[in-house]
Amino acid sequence: MRPPGSLARSALAVVIAALVLAGAPGTGAAVPPAPPNPSDDELDAGRGGVQGAAREVGVLASRVAAAGAELDAAQAELARTFESATRALQDRDAARVVAAAAQAVAESRRAKADAAGAEVRNAQQELDEFAAASYRQGSVIGSISGFLGSDDPEDLLARAELLDAVGGVQLDALEDLRRARVGMANQDSAARAALDEARDRQRAAEQAKVAADTAYAAAVAADAVAERRSAELLARKADLERQLDVAQRTLAGLEGRRATYQDWQVARREAEAARRAAEAVANAARPPEPATEPPAAPRPPAAAGPLRPGGVVAPTTGRITSTFGPRWGSIHYGLDIANRIGTPVVSVMDGRVISAGSASGFGLWVRVLHGDGTITVYGHVDRYLVSVGERVTGGEQIATIGNRGESTGPHLHFEVLRNGSRKIDPLVWLRGKGVSI
Ligand SMILES: [Zn+2]
Repeated sequence: MRPPGSLARSALAVVIAALVLAGAPGTGAAVPPAPPNPSDDELDAGRGGVQGAAREVGVLASRVAAAGAELDAAQAELARTFESATRALQDRDAARVVAAAAQAVAESRRAKADAAGAEVRNAQQELDEFAAASYRQGSVIGSISGFLGSDDPEDLLARAELLDAVGGVQLDALEDLRRARVGMANQDSAARAALDEARDRQRAAEQAKVAADTAYAAAVAADAVAERRSAELLARKADLERQLDVAQRTLAGLEGRRATYQDWQVARREAEAARRAAEAVANAARPPEPATEPPAAPRPPAAAGPLRPGGVVAPTTGRITSTFGPRWGSIHYGLDIANRIGTPVVSVMDGRVISAGSASGFGLWVRVLHGDGTITVYGHVDRYLVSVGERVTGGEQIATIGNRGESTGPHLHFEVLRNGSRKIDPLVWLRGKGVSI
């Protein structure tokens, strides 16, 4: 089985050879003009551009991650301070209600204590007036104390009458009023103490609310800053990723042009060789001397068939339907080449088969480990023709194109893992190895 890359190259050689033979022999004028060949400097600049952009994307990715962590912390602080502010508001409102109730109680106790005091004073006054009236009726005594201190028997009789008159019920009632007044005064001072305490608590709650509101406002501001920073970094990263994409496309284009130019060089050499061989045959026809056969024109190995050692070929032929990069909201890590079911799939380089069989998502697959540590993956294949551990050469058929697994049509899903782990753009890699596809 001839490698597809060589097939294309041979076809080009045949076309050029035909042109050469059809034209005037020896002029070489029929070889098509050289395609543009990008300089090594241009290619180096292209690779440098990709590396630089990839590095910047990497730096930005870690800054975006750091900003994301800061944003998370700011949002946690925002939630925490919001909760505190809400609790402080509830505490403040509750303290206000308690203080208002304490004030109402204190005012009512104060009014009752005042009323009790007034009642005691009124009763005292009434008793005084009663005593004064009784004294006037008795008419002989200068004052109640003087009268009470008298030794005169008549006075004593009058005193007994007076004491009888003012004693008993009135004195008891006065005593009751006095006791009530003391009780009211006690309740009044207790209510005032409760009010003082409620007001202290309210003041503390008001201060706590102010502090919580301040903390919340600071957290809101910090969150806004973190969010803006994160958004800016994300936008910058997206911009750099676009630049990286452009750099990758530019490089792929340059490498593709270089590969086309190299194909042209090989084809031109083959055409030249074919022309010389035709001349030799023509010369040999004149003197029939088979002994002096002209030496065979050297054939460039690329066109002859077997791949030169260490060379790379395309994994299959067909139409590229999807390349490496973002697709449908995720990353597509491979190169999709569509063709009919059964189209040969070949190993792109010499190597050893490390997987051949079913694989999740791919239906069936083959994986080949190459001498430089690269692993190539061939997915969705219809049949695999090799087994694990088998050695394969570059260009050797290992499978056929299929439509197995999560596939939307017959195609080969081809991946390249540098050092066996990092998935890289297969198209850039192939073109970098001089494969035009
Ligand atoms: Zn794919």
